[in-house]
Amino acid sequence: AVEAQGGSRGREHRVGGRSRGCSARQMLEVRPGLFLGGAAAVAEPDRLREAGVTAVLTVDSEEPDFSPGAGVEGLRSLFVPALDRPETDLLSHLDRCVAFIEQARAEGRAVLVRCHAGVSRSVTVITAFMMKTDQLTFEKAYENLKTVQPEAKMNEGFEWQLKLYQAMGCEVDTSSAVYKQYRLQKVTEKYPELQNLPQELFAVDPSAISQGLKDGGLYKCRKCRRSLFRSSSILDHNEGSGPVAFAHKRMTPSPVLSNGSQAQCTSYFIEPVQWMESTLLGVMDGQLLCPKCNAKLGSFNWYGEQCSCGRWITPAFQIHKNRVDEMKMLPVLGSQTRKI
Ligand SMILES: [Zn+2]
Ligand SMILES: [Zn+2]
Repeated sequence: AVEAQGGSRGREHRVGGRSRGCSARQMLEVRPGLFLGGAAAVAEPDRLREAGVTAVLTVDSEEPDFSPGAGVEGLRSLFVPALDRPETDLLSHLDRCVAFIEQARAEGRAVLVRCHAGVSRSVTVITAFMMKTDQLTFEKAYENLKTVQPEAKMNEGFEWQLKLYQAMGCEVDTSSAVYKQYRLQKVTEKYPELQNLPQELFAVDPSAISQGLKDGGLYKCRKCRRSLFRSSSILDHNEGSGPVAFAHKRMTPSPVLSNGSQAQCTSYFIEPVQWMESTLLGVMDGQLLCPKCNAKLGSFNWYGEQCSCGRWITPAFQIHKNRVDEMKMLPVLGSQTRKI
């Protein structure tokens, strides 16, 4: 249920700096015992002590120096290396950030979440924390935070990531279509030359392993019956729960039918499967052929393709529905297919 977000690439969001004054760099109390801050917040250990802060979460490019003797004994700290850029992946770290804050608070510690300017990275983490613990939407949590820190302005990449976080129920589910599509897109941004695709990007070739019953339906080449992919590899985009931010990406409306069927999509968009690897490397787009009989199954495009329903998917690995057959599991063995 996720789509590509183009447009953000290459645009760096600059915040902070002298012109903004020093308030943003110091500590602001967002909740009792939860502080937001920038570089100045940790520059003077006395200030931390005064506020009772004994846990510090740093989201920055450099790790802070909390060496012994600096007046910060007993300090608990977590460092997440991250630049304030739209392409930075904060989403993958949100669970452990939120867990760190939760645990510190459960132990009665006051927590400081800080980055450099105190307006983007740290704001993103605290917004995620508020979304999860107060069950707030992204918009509501961000709005609440802005009442404490009017200068808060996370970059648009982080906004998008928090909307995905919301779509996943405020818990990063690495097996969900939302996360898989996000990860694919991050790879596309990172490897424009596509010389080096991480192996974990590919789903295991279903013809190479014995079939696990709990893995759901299996899709085979209609012509030669070779197993091609599992239903868990389908990155569904028509469940109607996609982040609203991408509404503008829709070229034409894509109504979800009342019975939930997807009459308009003539293709499955799936995650890459191992048998595609050699085809995908070094080129931006091409055909997807059956690895056994060479029948044309569909196409791929790292820049994205438009589904017949109107949605853009980036990157896209699409298999025409009429080129494959679904082998359903027997109901007694559990026929439930994964819904995103
Ligand atoms: Zn579609
Ligand atoms: Zn075939």
